[in-house]
Amino acid sequence: MTGARGTTLDAFKLDGQICLVTGGAQGIGLAIAHGLRDAGGHVIIADRDTERGQRAADEIGGDFVEMDVTDSVSVEAAFEGVVGRHGRLDVLVNNAGIVKNTAALDTDDASWRALMAVNLDGVFYCCRSAARFMIRQHGGSIVNIASMSGSIANRPQPQASYNASKAAVIHLTRSLAAEWASDGIRVNSLSPGYVGTELTKRGFENAKWREAWINGTPLARLAKPEEIAPGVVFLASRASAFMTGSDLVMDGGYTIW
Ligand code: NDP
Repeated sequence: MTGARGTTLDAFKLDGQICLVTGGAQGIGLAIAHGLRDAGGHVIIADRDTERGQRAADEIGGDFVEMDVTDSVSVEAAFEGVVGRHGRLDVLVNNAGIVKNTAALDTDDASWRALMAVNLDGVFYCCRSAARFMIRQHGGSIVNIASMSGSIANRPQPQASYNASKAAVIHLTRSLAAEWASDGIRVNSLSPGYVGTELTKRGFENAKWREAWINGTPLARLAKPEEIAPGVVFLASRASAFMTGSDLVMDGGYTIW
């Protein structure tokens, strides 16, 4: 369909938009960086490993900025640097995340805190820093990578801290969407099911876990990272202009059963 604002496909374009992806050096984050670049965006990879991050940035023809999402000072400095260089920030994808497959009774304070520091504090710090600039320019789209684990408890592996952190990301997303809607900022989350990356590699090598993961997924396989990226392009772009506070589930059907 065509109209005054262009074709439907035009709505997915991110021409010239400045996009930052945390944890973009590998896995789902790197695939998202490719997707945003393919849609026309200028992508900045933010990660804590400088060498891997710079290599990924070179691969997509974008920039790299060093950032540890658990450190609000590092986060603030990185966003100031990006906006100082590019003059604006249009899209933030909070993708950095870790998992700990520890039984609840074996989870000590440090382990709990370390997971929350990346998966929840990090998302909040980045949203807060980005929003300061997005409010000033009255526009922006934030996509938080949550997980189906924010809605269900995975099996057979224990991961209470991860599941709780992702549920919190989904509700943080809704809360910030409500708070910043009048500032022209949309905030949505995307919840993948099992995706083949470093994060799931060890679990997938475990026959019992692999069987449960595959049997629990109607599409009977893991996703490839590049199958998640189009969902992020959708949420980042004008294609989802009337969506905010939503959680887009891409889980091969896992949460149906
Ligand atoms: P990977 O482990 O492959 O990649 C995660 C990236 O985040 C790495 O580059 C990692 O760097 C980086 N990172 C970790 N901690 C920090 C930090 N403190 N500051 C900056 N960067 C950091 O994971 P995935 O690609 O699988 O996961 C990406 C996101 O998708 C995560 O939020 C995850 O929870 C979510 N997800 C993944 C699923 C899956 O099945 N794979 C399913 C559902 C959700 P380093 O290597 O140095 O730690």
